[in-house]
Amino acid sequence: KSKEKSGTHYHFFETEMSDRNMESILLENALYKALDNEELEIYYQPQIDSRSNTMIGVEALLRWNHPTEGMVSPVHFIPIAEETGLIIPIGRWVLINACKQLIEWHKLGHSSLCMSVNLSGRQFEEDNLVSMIEGILQELKLAPEFLHIELTENQIVKNTKVTMRKMKQLKELGVKIAIDDFGTGYSSLGYLKNFPIDALKIDKSFIQDVVEDNDNAAITNTIITLAQNLKLNVIAEGVETEEQLEFLLSRNCTIMQGFFFSRPIKAEELTKKYLLKF
Ligand code: C2E
Ligand code: MG
Ligand code: MG
Ligand code: MG
Repeated sequence: KSKEKSGTHYHFFETEMSDRNMESILLENALYKALDNEELEIYYQPQIDSRSNTMIGVEALLRWNHPTEGMVSPVHFIPIAEETGLIIPIGRWVLINACKQLIEWHKLGHSSLCMSVNLSGRQFEEDNLVSMIEGILQELKLAPEFLHIELTENQIVKNTKVTMRKMKQLKELGVKIAIDDFGTGYSSLGYLKNFPIDALKIDKSFIQDVVEDNDNAAITNTIITLAQNLKLNVIAEGVETEEQLEFLLSRNCTIMQGFFFSRPIKAEELTKKYLLKF
């Protein structure tokens, strides 16, 4: 490689970097105002028990309606929210509003419906996480078992001791805990026996071509068996086709989530489509 060439590369790299920084700085500034400006909204995706064909829960998925950029994916803005600490007020807002929405659905007669909320590892670093959640549940008079927390393996591994302690406290409170995106993280299997976990969510990357790809089928089978042997619930995410549904059912994995049933949608739409009795 000539010096000249690497010089060019360096220059190119630098431009790319500063573009990216510029974009995230702009997003970061906008995110500070998003909560106050009511640009954040929670979408809800049904969790179905395919054996009885009933909705047993919903997952709250955050959306940011940016005034000029349109919908920004949580994949882009959650990392910024974590870096800036904005995930603390945003995460609290999600918890409060998702729980309020669940209570509305309970009032409509769907009194056993549960609410799954994604938490970031950063929220577990806050000393008051558990008392904050306890306070919300008490104030809204929602029984803790209706709230299901989703955490990824990587978030647990980042700060194992502190996270583990708080997971135990949440569990004592009665809140349920699921490991999200299971199988994609860096954790060892050993932690499954020590952590107070209620459910594993099979990552959608394994479900995507579970019917065509033997490796993904093997991994999915293994996760289902692992969950069953450890007496954990198992939820398949990203179910898009009937073939995937049949595959999972034949393995006794009955709880599913995915576009086959419904995309994440607004609360009012979910109410109209699935929860109103005529
Ligand atoms: P996740 O918790 O694993 O959520 C599942 C993601 O898969 C969602 O993406 C959902 O829209 C998408 N999905 C559901 N069914 C299907 C399907 O059949 N096919 C495909 N291709 N995708 C499907 P989304 O809403 O973009 O969220 C991405 C991630 O952002 C979430 O992954 C979660 O980790 C994070 N996130 C979302 N809301 C929150 C929140 O309130 N707090 C935190 N900390 N993270 C959140
Ligand atoms: Mg999730
Ligand atoms: Mg997931
Ligand atoms: Mg994910």
